Amino acid sequence: MNSNRKIYIADDELNLRRGIRQFLEADGYFVRDFEDGESLLAAFREEEADIVILDIMMPGMDGFTICQEIRKISTVPVIITTAKDTEADYSQGLAAGTDDYITKPFSPKMLAMKIEMFIRRLDYEREYAERDLMTGLYNKVNGIKHVENKIRVMHDMNKSEKADRSSDTLEPVRGALFVMDIDNFKNVNDTLGHPVGDQVIIDVSQALLRLFRSTDILFRYGGDEFVAFAVDFVDNNFVSHKAEEICKAIRQSYSNSQHTCKISASIGIAYFPEHAHNYTQLLEAADKALYKAKENGKDGYFIYENI
Ligand code: GH3
Ligand code: MG
Repeated sequence: MNSNRKIYIADDELNLRRGIRQFLEADGYFVRDFEDGESLLAAFREEEADIVILDIMMPGMDGFTICQEIRKISTVPVIITTAKDTEADYSQGLAAGTDDYITKPFSPKMLAMKIEMFIRRLDYEREYAERDLMTGLYNKVNGIKHVENKIRVMHDMNKSEKADRSSDTLEPVRGALFVMDIDNFKNVNDTLGHPVGDQVIIDVSQALLRLFRSTDILFRYGGDEFVAFAVDFVDNNFVSHKAEEICKAIRQSYSNSQHTCKISASIGIAYFPEHAHNYTQLLEAADKALYKAKENGKDGYFIYENI
């Protein structure tokens, strides 16, 4: 896991930087060490690291100056190593944009734990950036990325199975793309107000989370529209049954003192690989099916092959 984490260290003391390097490499990190700040900076400009460790006193530019240069191009965590644990150093480091200090002499284990904390924070931030803020589901950009990756893997599996197939009867690996849109949602906003509309979106996302499995990919496509890519199902009955379950779970009433709104959703479904081999075409097919489901009176589902 750590192997794709890059750590750059600059320190003019060879033994010290090599010692740290060996220790972190044993933890599985990819580490590069530099005898001065300028060479670290040059390497960083070529390829960013996940964590940077800088000594303050080095020949050429000092650690603070290097950090200031890095801050012009990156928010990477920078840890300063220093023999002088003074208030003045802290204040200079703060101004230069450093994130933490470690005072020499320190144990490599101590540094490794600090690094782990920063890496954990980075993971949280990356995870957060992948999510839709209101529902906590994947956002559109990441949802699409995950579906595309999944389709690529499934496509390759089908190709290799075909290549070394002794029996032509082997079933391809399949997936079903669901496009789900709340019916007459504008009406909810207009009669019950936006905050209730927001709550409906959150409730629908929770219902969908309960109904799809963790191996499926579920995301908010935008507004009142959700997309799910379901995999590992045995037959089409499973998909129809899932669609019915979704419609049933979303069918609900929301009220305030004056009005009541009935909520329902329509669903369009298309199959990989029967209807399309890539995400864009699959979405197009599922969208057409959704349109048909809306045309048929809403609160129901439609499968592309039936059009
Ligand atoms: P249809 O049955 O054809 O789907 O009609 P609809 O009224 O649901 O219309 P449509 O799906 O085109 O419109 C979705 C509306 O959702 C438009 C937009 O004002 C509203 N909307 C989009 N995002 C949000 C949101 O985050 N919160 C709230 N409350 N409303 C939103
Ligand atoms: Mg809608």
